[in-house]
Amino acid sequence: MTVDLPRRRTSTGDAPTPDASSPPRADPAPPTERKSGPARPFLLDFVPLESEKDTRLARFFERLAAGRLSTTRCARDDLLHWPPRTACPRCHSEELSWVDLPESGRIYAFSAVLAGAPMGMEADVPFAVGLVDLDGVPLRLFGRIEGRPWADLAIGLAVRVEPYDVGDGRWFYRFRVVD
Ligand SMILES: [Zn+2]
Repeated sequence: MTVDLPRRRTSTGDAPTPDASSPPRADPAPPTERKSGPARPFLLDFVPLESEKDTRLARFFERLAAGRLSTTRCARDDLLHWPPRTACPRCHSEELSWVDLPESGRIYAFSAVLAGAPMGMEADVPFAVGLVDLDGVPLRLFGRIEGRPWADLAIGLAVRVEPYDVGDGRWFYRFRVVD
């Protein structure tokens, strides 16, 4: 999909006048060269490096790779966290345990990305993102919603959690509409 972006305007709205003190500017800006790289750039992750030597949240990704979406719960005050933590945001305890989250939920809100997708996701446009209330826990998670064109989504629609291999050694999760 191509989108016509508004042309650059002068501050006065008048036609630009030649000005020897400033170099001429190309309009529109030439496209930047894209270098080949990983399937997804290291953006939009909790932690771009998922291994145990890189993050104390490595267990989250290990469990995700095993098909389980999980998070931390505080042993002191029983607070369930999202995203997973290394210390409880309420009592600062580091006595946390890992717990699996429900795999099912319902769409609380959604939107469509029609332009301006994050780097590495340009080819996926249009796609849906949204907030999902997981069943049985007081957590509302943000993520991609797959399995149905965005125009056919609806608030309250049932979805399930789908861990997936990003393709470059990383794992993440998304939601898929339940048929
Ligand atoms: Zn706590």
